[in-house]
Amino acid sequence: MMRAVTTAGFGDIDVLQVSEIPRPIPGENEVLVKIHASALNRADTLQRKGLYPPPPGASNIIGLECTGEVAESVGSWASGKRVMSILSGGGYAEYATIPSDHLIPIPDNLSYEEAAAIPEGWITAYQILFYIAKGKPQEKVLIHAGASGVGTALIQLAKLKGLLVAVTCGSQEKMDFCRNLGADLAINYKTESFKEKIRDFGGVDIVLDCIGANYFEDNLDAINLDGRWIIYGTMGGHQVNQVSLRGLMAKRVSLITTTLRSRSKEYKADLIKEFINDGILDAFQNGILKPILYRTFSMEEVALAHELMEKNENSGKIVLKIIS
Ligand code: NAP
Repeated sequence: MMRAVTTAGFGDIDVLQVSEIPRPIPGENEVLVKIHASALNRADTLQRKGLYPPPPGASNIIGLECTGEVAESVGSWASGKRVMSILSGGGYAEYATIPSDHLIPIPDNLSYEEAAAIPEGWITAYQILFYIAKGKPQEKVLIHAGASGVGTALIQLAKLKGLLVAVTCGSQEKMDFCRNLGADLAINYKTESFKEKIRDFGGVDIVLDCIGANYFEDNLDAINLDGRWIIYGTMGGHQVNQVSLRGLMAKRVSLITTTLRSRSKEYKADLIKEFINDGILDAFQNGILKPILYRTFSMEEVALAHELMEKNENSGKIVLKIIS
């Protein structure tokens, strides 16, 4: 048996509870990992409310990432090896079974809690900026929710590869935070129009959009000819009315949507291989890139952790410590 966060039905934070449930059993080419830490993602709060069911075959337990140690050796993954991974579910628990080609070694300089701020946010960021949008040095990128878990990874990755970065966020504190991470321009969407500010910035080649409907018109204004616009979240709504496709065509915009969780195991393995081969782990090891850990909660405090995320208070990741 193992301890895990389960839900008593769907709903508010009070449905979250810690329960004893059976340990998962690894299948072929899977590794049993003893989890030390997990981290929160917006998707977790939607899953808790019953608005984002796990894809077929995934664990019903909430949690899209973990760090931990290999519990039983498989191939070159020796028992006790420190590892991290994205998950299609099951992170808020003491054990998870993970395809061996999804495992990533934790850089020596990072603790389990620090590394827990990496997998889902950074691999999503790497995927949308380089794998999908094909971001190149000197291009300009607009990153919405710049202080989010994904946003803080995007800023650092974009600067590492020589892009110019504009972000939107909702407070002076978050603007300062994003600038300190390297953003060239930070815009407080609550007090100023990002449309005007991005015009002054000369438009952008890439829009990385996790807000959706209510930013549609201004994103279209912001993007330059042949721009790539990646929609990877809809925190601001999903229903766009009265859209003229001519506006998109006039700028020859590539409008692409994506979700990482539902991708095939093979896609995720290829993405992770590229993430490693591109030297991203070395950059963490050398301190050039930094996982951004906002606050750590114990498993028993999971409801408080969800509450904090839903109040939009975090800059960077909220980590859940599984082993206290
Ligand atoms: P997070 O750390 O919880 O940060 C989200 C931030 O977004 C909030 O703190 C808030 O910051 C801002 N925000 C919330 N609602 C907003 C609204 N209506 N308009 C403008 N800003 C708003 O988030 P996360 O876990 O990193 O996730 C960020 C986004 O990436 C989410 O939409 C998530 O679903 C998406 N995501 C997608 C994938 C994928 O594969 N498609 C994978 C991972 C994450 P301010 O204070 O600045 O407003």
